[in-house]
Amino acid sequence: MAVEQTYPEIREAVSRLCAQFTGEYWRKLDQDKAYPTEFVAALTEAGYLSVLIPEEFGGSGLPLGAACAVLEEIQRSGGNGGACHAQMYTMGTLLRHGNTQQKNQYLPAIAEGSLRLQAFGVTEPSSGTDTSRIRTVAVRDGDDYVVNGQKVFISRTEHSDLMILLVRTTPRDQCARHTDGMSVLLVDMREAVGNGLTIKPIDTMMNHATTELFFDDLRVPVQNLIGEEGKGFKCILDGMNAERILIAAECIGDARWFTEKSSRYACDREVFDRPIGQNQGIQFPIARAHIHTEAAALMVQQAADLYDAGKPAGAEANMAKMLASEASWEAADQCVQTHGGYGFTTEYDVERKFRETRLYQVAPISTNLILSFIATQELGMPRSF
Ligand SMILES: Cc1cc2nc3c(=O)[nH]c(=O)nc-3n(C[C@H](O)[C@H](O)[C@H](O)COP(=O)(O)OP(=O)(O)OC[C@H]3O[C@@H](n4cnc5c(N)ncnc54)[C@H](O)[C@@H]3O)c2cc1C
Repeated sequence: MAVEQTYPEIREAVSRLCAQFTGEYWRKLDQDKAYPTEFVAALTEAGYLSVLIPEEFGGSGLPLGAACAVLEEIQRSGGNGGACHAQMYTMGTLLRHGNTQQKNQYLPAIAEGSLRLQAFGVTEPSSGTDTSRIRTVAVRDGDDYVVNGQKVFISRTEHSDLMILLVRTTPRDQCARHTDGMSVLLVDMREAVGNGLTIKPIDTMMNHATTELFFDDLRVPVQNLIGEEGKGFKCILDGMNAERILIAAECIGDARWFTEKSSRYACDREVFDRPIGQNQGIQFPIARAHIHTEAAALMVQQAADLYDAGKPAGAEANMAKMLASEASWEAADQCVQTHGGYGFTTEYDVERKFRETRLYQVAPISTNLILSFIATQELGMPRSF
């Protein structure tokens, strides 16, 4: 028996939509390193990518828990929401910190699907996890900022019209706190590419449409500053709890896909004249992965409930992300083991999902950084960095 499923109608509808996009569809994309354009279009048309946008801007104004249900079901169907999940949470920075003009200009078009806000540019080659050391700078010149620098692992930039970009507007050593002096710009990719922005795809072990970005005197109008200049870190931090909870829900979906696939195969596959699942050596690791998944699912639900109630959810969001990403990885590993040699063949989709779910122990935040956050912020131990 799994943890009680919230939003059953949404889950059923998403699962029906996903059934049109079979393993064969995802396998072909994976082989071709292609973007799931048709899948994203279907999700957008059905309104699932705008569930978090308030009704006044044309979305459905649902809680985070509903968005979790959507993403979990996509992963549970064998698909990959990584192609579009950022559309859900990235707009939160604009919604919470954008001015009225910016919200009216962009949110209805994002909700309708005519404008894509899929890209979120924070990580840089030299700073890594230490965001306060980003080197991409924006210098004010009249009515524009002039942006120079480099970002790495910025996903979906080739499939997005807009990007939320974190830049330095005041040098780090001139700020009272290291996290001061950074600002958020909304970059219109349609105008930027070829005019100071160059995109270079990065080949990764799974199909994730991630890229490197090079800024060379890119001009961004000052009117595209989101929130206050110098307070950008806080703007993006706000969205990170939502991102972690949503990614955790995706991991739960992955874990359930793996465990269902393992149990089914363990019942069907006969070796030594009996189903392999009759052996406890096969049963127990699958049962253990299931138990860990359901425990993690409770934490994801708790984090989403706190977030939706407007209560502090930082610790729960981080714990949910860590537990869920570890549960999905455990379930993935057991799924390969249960399938024996067939786990390594592409036609079972196990090896593809195995590669895909590994990401979530590193991005959007790595496990060590979560442990450090809990150790210092929750348990009061001294910071190591
Ligand atoms: C496929 C993919 C898609 C991505 N998409 C995006 C995106 O759209 N936008 C974006 O901004 N970023 C994106 N990222 C970047 C991702 O968020 C980072 O890779 C991640 O935050 C880790 O940063 P890093 O790779 O620089 O690792 P590093 O910071 O170099 O860390 C390397 C390892 O060292 C560990 N480590 C570092 N410091 C410490 C410490 N003090 N104590 C203990 N351990 C430590 C880390 O936990 C990690 O395991 C993506 C990454 C990938 C792989």
